[in-house]
Amino acid sequence: MFHKIYDSLLTLAYPQACEVCQNIVENSFDGVACRLCWEKTRFFSGTETLCAKCGAYLQAKVSGFETFCHRCDGHFYDAARAVGIYEKALSASVLHLKREPMVGKRLKKLFVSRFRDSDFQDATKIVPVPLSEKRFLERGFNQAGILAKILSKQTGIALDEQSLTRQIHTPMHRVGMDEKARATSVKNAFEAKRPKLIEGETIILIDDVFTSGATVSAGAEVLKEKGAHKVYVLTLARAVENF
Ligand SMILES: [Zn+2]
Ligand SMILES: [Zn+2]
Repeated sequence: MFHKIYDSLLTLAYPQACEVCQNIVENSFDGVACRLCWEKTRFFSGTETLCAKCGAYLQAKVSGFETFCHRCDGHFYDAARAVGIYEKALSASVLHLKREPMVGKRLKKLFVSRFRDSDFQDATKIVPVPLSEKRFLERGFNQAGILAKILSKQTGIALDEQSLTRQIHTPMHRVGMDEKARATSVKNAFEAKRPKLIEGETIILIDDVFTSGATVSAGAEVLKEKGAHKVYVLTLARAVENF
């Protein structure tokens, strides 16, 4: 009964305008972008060579051996992966998710598949990158928390939204901010409140977008200081320069 009402409400909201090209989104499955824009968005398919650590795109073909970009050498997480490139349907979905706690079925499926295709299967806990209390109150929800809940529900891996907190309200990362400026702006921002819940765990840290990696690295650093065994990072999108 409840599902029926929910579905019919969703149907009422569609068709709506694609947030990328303004054409019509026919089906609620596609969320905020039309089918064509989804088809034009580039996803990591497993046929390309990515940095074994941070997931940076290196070349179009699988090289057959582990390759590293080395720009991520100082990062504290063990490995980071993203669904696809921060462009078209994915960037529109990420931007929409900052305004409204809505994840379309297509995006949900892509996100969960990316986890299932990853080497993160030994994970014991899912932790979203937290917002500061100020930002959380402004927004009313944490977009990384929404994604973390989806993954936890689909995989049965425990969700922990309490252990990692953000102390300082860091300014939004702007395009053009260099790596050092980003790293400084997130330094000391995170705190792990309940080390007993982190000790020995293999954690997947969830965020909406991976830009320089400074944010997730700072989160991973704190989790590792409190005894996390491993920290993986999974994001919807990844900003890339050379894809
Ligand atoms: Zn479109
Ligand atoms: Zn790398």
